[in-house]
Amino acid sequence: MVYLVTGGAGFIGSHLCARLLREGRRVLAVDNFSTGSYANIAGLAAHPGFSLVTGDVRDQELMAKLVREADVIFHLAAAVGVRHILHHPVETLETNILGTHVLLSLAARYQRLILVASTSEVYGKSRRERFSEEDDLVLGPSHLSRWGYACSKLADEFLALAYHRERRLPVIITRLFNTVGPRQTGRYGMVLPTFVAQALRGEPITVHGSGRQTRCFIHVAEVVEVLIQLTGEPRAVGEIFNIGSTEEVSIAHLAQVVKEITRSSSPIVFLPYEQVYGAGYEDMDHRVPDISKIQSLLGFSPRRRLSLIVREVADWLREDAAAVASFGRRPAAD
Ligand code: UDP
Repeated sequence: MVYLVTGGAGFIGSHLCARLLREGRRVLAVDNFSTGSYANIAGLAAHPGFSLVTGDVRDQELMAKLVREADVIFHLAAAVGVRHILHHPVETLETNILGTHVLLSLAARYQRLILVASTSEVYGKSRRERFSEEDDLVLGPSHLSRWGYACSKLADEFLALAYHRERRLPVIITRLFNTVGPRQTGRYGMVLPTFVAQALRGEPITVHGSGRQTRCFIHVAEVVEVLIQLTGEPRAVGEIFNIGSTEEVSIAHLAQVVKEITRSSSPIVFLPYEQVYGAGYEDMDHRVPDISKIQSLLGFSPRRRLSLIVREVADWLREDAAAVASFGRRPAAD
């Protein structure tokens, strides 16, 4: 079996490739290195089952060749990270919508199973206690770039289901909630690597807004295990699944946990959203997944507690001095 992983040099993609290789599968990774990095897959380069292609998912000719070679496709390539998205709205929309269209149409042409990684962002400003796959989705207005990301991923979902219904494409959609772990960069705005790097450097830990907003963080190893299991489950085809942890934590509390675990002397500071993202930025107050659907299909229950994940991220960042030096600082030109 050959597995094509788009975004294979990204944070989740690189963990997925490593896991597939450990299971003895052949992996074909493709990445345009916009946010992925060679460092993420350096450890895989010498593996006989691993091939890497540098290219863009919008490149129809290249993708046709790769899709033909593959038995199963994990489509993870996307523009990600709030900071990146706000600064590159055209690239975000084009990569996420056009790139996914290329992959879906080719997967349909060659009848390959494709898993599309969507996001909890599609729930938008929903005020429900737990987000469930069939809930209404509440997005903000189109003049705020942040919602363009949610909208692009939602367009991917509609397209994937349309191909499933009309062209009999075997497709699985996963909505990933805040996924964290070693190799995640804070460069594009993600909170956990940013906080841990700030704490290790002894710099202020920057909580945005009141810090009362909550998230649930899941370890990347648990996510990739579920992604792989889903592709072996015929009942998953044509379905949407939330994948995430249900351990809800406020961002202010997360800052405290990071400070304690790293034994950092960093102060915790609260920055207004306007100061960080400019005027008119909207954040989500709460985001907790209802995971009963994936639980009943696969018996999946996230096991790794937040404190252990923070410790692991800190250990990884301590070993990677270059990463610590660059994460969590606001890049001048990104
Ligand atoms: N956040 C923060 N400080 C940072 C980066 C992020 O307080 O340096 C907040 C951000 O405003 C959001 C939460 O942490 O409320 C999670 O942000 P992230 O970008 O990691 O994920 P998402 O917003 O997609 O849930």
